[in-house]
Amino acid sequence: MSTPSTWFRPIGEEVAVFTRAHAQRLPLLIKGPTGCGKSRFVEHMAAKLDQPLITVACNDETSAADLVGRWLVRGGDTVWQDGPATRAVRTGAILYLDEVAEAREDVVVLLHPLTDHRRQLFVDRNDEVLRAADKFMLVASFNPGYRRGIKELKASTRQRFVALHFDYPPVEAEVEIVMSESGIEGKQARRLVAWAQKVRVQDELGLAETVSTRLLVMAAQLIMSGLPARVACRAALVQPLTDDRPTALALSDLVDLTF
Ligand code: ADP
Repeated sequence: MSTPSTWFRPIGEEVAVFTRAHAQRLPLLIKGPTGCGKSRFVEHMAAKLDQPLITVACNDETSAADLVGRWLVRGGDTVWQDGPATRAVRTGAILYLDEVAEAREDVVVLLHPLTDHRRQLFVDRNDEVLRAADKFMLVASFNPGYRRGIKELKASTRQRFVALHFDYPPVEAEVEIVMSESGIEGKQARRLVAWAQKVRVQDELGLAETVSTRLLVMAAQLIMSGLPARVACRAALVQPLTDDRPTALALSDLVDLTF
């Protein structure tokens, strides 16, 4: 298997902000909708700064113990296993908590001393307090629009981070990304992006989340694999976006108009 790409097309000042935040040992929060390049950006920056990256995809069951570590029973013995946050703090890695707002409340409590001047992690193995190695950096992402009202990041937590706002890239950049990620030619990439531009402004479609750059890349990859464009778009764009039949038909019609 080839190594995953860390190529990133910069959109604004994000590279400069990340670089300075890392140099100043400041935690960084990246806000933005799903599939807009947040994770790719963090992977890119870790490679650029030559730092190890430890990523945790948070969900509503992610707890402090999942991050810090736990005692495990192994063949009659009880052994401690460091979790990803402990490993990152010990080794000075970049710790990326993807979708941090999803995680349980005790994760937030754990993060507070890590995000201020203390840079400390409480490890309950021996009531140990670990001070983060010099190059350790905490990066978290969250999706402000997602299921609004259910999971928000508290203001008191947000204010512990430097923050960057991400959104779907402007047309030219998104065309470039779709081409580079799939190898598709410019004309087809433009069509995919034009389709997305139309869908993104149609609030009346009632989509829980609108079409992401990630979906456009997947559609382009299917087209490049030899599927007819309309078939690829229905599979990679229409069906992932909605289960509602009338909405799917409307999105499909737009595919037929575009391709
Ligand atoms: P998020 O973390 O915001 O959900 P990802 O970083 O996983 O989204 O992005 C999804 C895909 O979109 C990436 O794998 C990549 O193919 C593409 N992508 C989005 N934005 C960019 C960008 N600026 N540069 C390069 N690729 C991008």
